Parts: sequence; C-alpha cells; structure tokens
Amino acid sequence: ALKERGLKVTVVEMLPQILPAMLDLDMANIVKEILEQKGLSILTEKRVEEILGEDKATGVIAGEEQLNADILLSAFGVRANTKLASEANIELGETRAIKTNARMETNIKDIFAAGDCAEVPNLITHKPSCSQLGTIAVRQGKVAGTNAGGGYSLFQGVLGSAVTKLFDTEVGSTGLTVNAAKKARIETVTGTINSKTRADYYPGAKPIKIKLVVEKESHHLIGAQIIGGEEVTQRINAISFAIQKHMTISELAKADTAYAPPLSETWEPIILAAEIVLRKLQ
Ligand SMILES: Cc1cc2nc3c(=O)[nH]c(=O)nc-3n(C[C@H](O)[C@H](O)[C@H](O)COP(=O)(O)OP(=O)(O)OC[C@H]3O[C@@H](n4cnc5c(N)ncnc54)[C@H](O)[C@@H]3O)c2cc1C
Repeated sequence: ALKERGLKVTVVEMLPQILPAMLDLDMANIVKEILEQKGLSILTEKRVEEILGEDKATGVIAGEEQLNADILLSAFGVRANTKLASEANIELGETRAIKTNARMETNIKDIFAAGDCAEVPNLITHKPSCSQLGTIAVRQGKVAGTNAGGGYSLFQGVLGSAVTKLFDTEVGSTGLTVNAAKKARIETVTGTINSKTRADYYPGAKPIKIKLVVEKESHHLIGAQIIGGEEVTQRINAISFAIQKHMTISELAKADTAYAPPLSETWEPIILAAEIVLRKLQ
C-alpha cells in the first residue's frame, strides 16, 4: 500500500526469509523477488537494533547499517495480552496465551476465552498454537458463546489457513510448512509445480506455483503453499478440507476436478503437484 502511494519502502526482517509462518524459504524467495521487482527493498537476516529519533522516528539501525526514514512501521508480531486473565488467576498455556478446553472454557468454570488471546491445538501436531486469525476468532467465539449460553459445541483445532495479496500476486498456505513439520519431527516429501490458472493459450492465464507437503510415513497431505495470480483462496480451502479429512496423496492425485479454458487448466495444478509427490514416494 505504501509503495502504491509512491513511497520508497524498505522491509527489515531478522529471519533468512519473509512470511516465515506461511512459506518455506524456497517459496518465500519467489515472493521476495516479486516484491523487489515492484521496487521494494527487502533486507533479510538483519535485526532492527535501534530506533533513531527523539520526538519522532527518523530511521533505524539494522545489521549495523543506518536506514533513514520519514515513517517507521513496526510489525514485530502479535502477542496475546493476557494481563487481565493472569490477574484473575486464569491459566496460561505454553504459548503464553490463555489455555482452554475444546469448549473454549478456561480453568475457571463459566469463564471462556476466544480469539487472539486464546491458544488452540494444531490439527496436525496436536500441539498448542496461537493462530491469531479473524476466521479462527469468529469460530472460537461461536463455540464459546454456544457453551456459555448452555449449549454444547467443540472447537477441534486449526490448520492456520491464511491468504494474502501482495500487489497483484495472491499468496496462501495451509497446514504445516516443511520447516514447521521438521520442528514437530515429522519427515516430509514435497511436490512443487508451476502451472497456469487458465488454459495456457487463453488470454489472462496467470502463472501459479503450488507446493504440497506430505508426511513421508503415512502419505497424508499435511500442508500446502501457493503463489499465483488468482483463485488461491479457493485452492487453499480445498486443500484444507483434504487435510482435515486425512486424505492421502494418492487419493488427492485421483480427485475429480473441473476444466474449462477460460477458468482453469486441463489438469488442476493441485493434482499435478500431488502426482509429483507420488513419483517421489514410489
Ligand atoms: C492489520 C491486520 C490485518 C489482519 N488481516 C486478517 C485477515 O485478512 N484475515 C484474518 O483471518 N485475520 C486477519 N487479522 C487478524 C484478525 O484481525 C484477528 O485475529 C482478530 O481480529 C482477533 O479477534 P479478537 O476478537 O480476538 O481480537 P480483536 O479484534 O483485537 O478485539 C478485541 C477487542 O477487545 C477490546 N479490549 C481489549 N482490552 C479490553 C478490556 N480490558 N475491556 C474491554 N475491551 C477490551 C479491544 O479494544 C478490541 O476491540 C488481521 C490483523 C491485523 C492487525
């Protein structure tokens, strides 16, 4: 948004990649290149060490380099504000967010927590996580509200499905990245495909790249990352359904999909990516 308003923009990131919660390094580097082509300067592996200026920020020191700026936008992540909960003796979990059961009830009877302040189990690792997404907050709110009102409802967990749009490029992910799987000690096999969003010859066909992450032992689909021009949200949603239904990669490769030149490629790219994983597993 700042670039589109004509500002010179520099992004400073201390990790080796941007979008670490959504993408693996290989996919993140593609997004980085797209952003650089649009004129953004992206500095990775540089930690903001100091904010300069007295009455107003005039720049930062990052990786021993001074970057002068008229505007400093701080986006260092989100942490649950649990002060009120702690003061009320409500138990926090290992993520430092509020611990709840599947009814979204805290350790204190009839006190419920939902949204960014509450931790939730990851559907694949079953470990507590902080998804901090609006979609999850609303679903948790419905569950907490139903239970607080005397009904019965359970919140099963999250895959962390998320989408974003950077200039005209859509980016989405669901489930675990290879990196997140490694941290959970899950061995993976991946399949990555470059395809088009419509028939190759059809005007307006946009490039799309899909990476599927599969658990090596069970062959279950556990994650996906997509970079493309259109329909990323619906593809991420479809893959999310497949993960939630514990689909194996061979079941996904045989899935029934639709085709018409102005709307899709003959072979849905998700299916082609699944076939690549299958070949690696054979
Ligand atoms: C810039 C940005 C973009 C986002 N984009 C997306 C997106 O595209 N998709 C998506 O799924 N998620 C997105 N999110 C995340 C999403 O907005 C949050 O996950 C969601 O709003 C969390 O809902 P919540 O009710 O837990 O908290 P909030 O929406 O933060 O609501 C909490 C409310 O409680 C109030 N409050 C705090 N303390 C007290 C108090 N002591 N007494 C009374 N009231 C209090 C606050 O003022 C606030 O209004 C985005 C977040 C940001 C910051």
